[in-house]
Amino acid sequence: PAPVHVIGGGLAGSEAAWQLAQAGVRVVLHEMRPQRSTEAHQTDSLAELVCSNSFRSDDAEQNAVGLLHQEMRALGSLIMRSADANQVPAGGALAVDRDGFAAAVSAALEEHPLVEIRREEVAGLPPAEWDSVIVATGPLTSDPLAEAIAKLTGEGELAFFDAIAPIVHAETIDMSVAWRQSRYDKVGPGGTGADYLNCPMTREQYEAFVAGLVAGEKVSFKQWEASTPYFDGCLPIEVMAERGPETLRHGPMKPMGLTNAHKPDEKPYAVVQLRQDNALGTLFNMVGFQTKLRHAEQVRLFRTIPGLERAEFARLGGLHRNTYLNSPKLLDRSLRLKAEPRLRFAGQMTGCEGYVESAAIGLLAGRFAAGDRLGGCVAAPPATTALGALLGHVTGGHLSVEGEGPKSYQPMNVNFGLFPPIEGPLRAPDGSRPRGAAKAQAKKRMFTDRARVDLARWLSGDTTPAAEAAE
Ligand code: FAD
Repeated sequence: PAPVHVIGGGLAGSEAAWQLAQAGVRVVLHEMRPQRSTEAHQTDSLAELVCSNSFRSDDAEQNAVGLLHQEMRALGSLIMRSADANQVPAGGALAVDRDGFAAAVSAALEEHPLVEIRREEVAGLPPAEWDSVIVATGPLTSDPLAEAIAKLTGEGELAFFDAIAPIVHAETIDMSVAWRQSRYDKVGPGGTGADYLNCPMTREQYEAFVAGLVAGEKVSFKQWEASTPYFDGCLPIEVMAERGPETLRHGPMKPMGLTNAHKPDEKPYAVVQLRQDNALGTLFNMVGFQTKLRHAEQVRLFRTIPGLERAEFARLGGLHRNTYLNSPKLLDRSLRLKAEPRLRFAGQMTGCEGYVESAAIGLLAGRFAAGDRLGGCVAAPPATTALGALLGHVTGGHLSVEGEGPKSYQPMNVNFGLFPPIEGPLRAPDGSRPRGAAKAQAKKRMFTDRARVDLARWLSGDTTPAAEAAE
């Protein structure tokens, strides 16, 4: 049979090619470096890490990305195998020697008898005779291909600029301070008039907050970002704060149309609004709070907002060039472009964020494509696993309920907010009812225990989630 073509030998493309080859399917992997490079890559190795050398936490019991590591290892991931073999000390995190890691991935693929590597740019839509293609060209996809994809998917469906606001775990918002209300109690499509969470500020709190934004340490623009204009609709909050002390109060922090449910007689001087971010209602994004403040600075400053003192962030704000699809709208459940199903997408282009997540979606795309080529059908992993939760985010589980539909789709790391909630009371592993800080730990443990059971079931060919099987 004809080979499957994988475009892009980054984190996702390398893993996809490996999964295909290991399943017995011939692969042609097209990587444009060194013939043409990106603004961030510096070598011609496959799976080059463009920035940090960390794969983040390796704790598979308390951390969603650690769980994702574990699941990928169970599925024979080349990225995880190469990371494990090139580990450097980093506490509970999995960090790697970047050169050793990339060399290991490159060697494994170069030596695989079913993999052919072509060092060439695919400068436009792949030729029609390639009947199965995985596009894994990443956030810095070369212009001719990005333009061709944008044309195919419709203008506006391929974001080129990533302005993201922080996302908070709903359960960490203090609802004795915050209240639910839409501005002017407006009822939008599918809304209730109480779709937003609101955090009130006094004049003193607002002024201190604005001063903190102006003084806060920002991430500096990379040279290649310097010419990227701000879109007026997504100015970073610190840029707005610099324009004058009142700017935010007349912008995203305006108090109009809102009444503090806890103190109806006190008119808030400013209000921070949070909008539901996922269908499960476990995540809320801070409306209009896209920012280039350093991450530690964001956490420190945003926790001064009344109601967010103990906020835990599923994602912090940021602003950088990014090319990704509105994939919940454009892709089917096995990552194929609905408009042209011979094209499958993987990696950061699908709107996951991070090395591990990109590789994970590459792993799934490779398995789905292998299933198609071999005439079988590969079932998607259960939504209760880290792989399944991430796939759900990418293919539609993440739709905003605010009537904006997938327009609000934003890249995201894997996190427990993407998992279906745990039913029933919280239990520690010894069966006791946990209290205080132990509660959060017990909850994470229940997520990861459930995921392990469901992954094992899925690997054994039984696709019924444990919860249903137990009924
Ligand atoms: P990539 O790893 O970028 O792979 C895409 C590959 O496709 C590249 O090798 C590229 O050369 C090739 N390619 C592009 N166009 C073509 C074409 N037309 N034909 C052939 N080949 C092509 N994530 C983290 O977890 N930690 C970080 O520290 C981090 N820092 C980042 C810094 C920057 C500047 C950026 C842009 C992203 C960063 N990310 C980080 C996010 C993301 O995890 C990485 O970008 C990750 O590498 C994405 O994996 P990928 O496989 O989708 O894309």
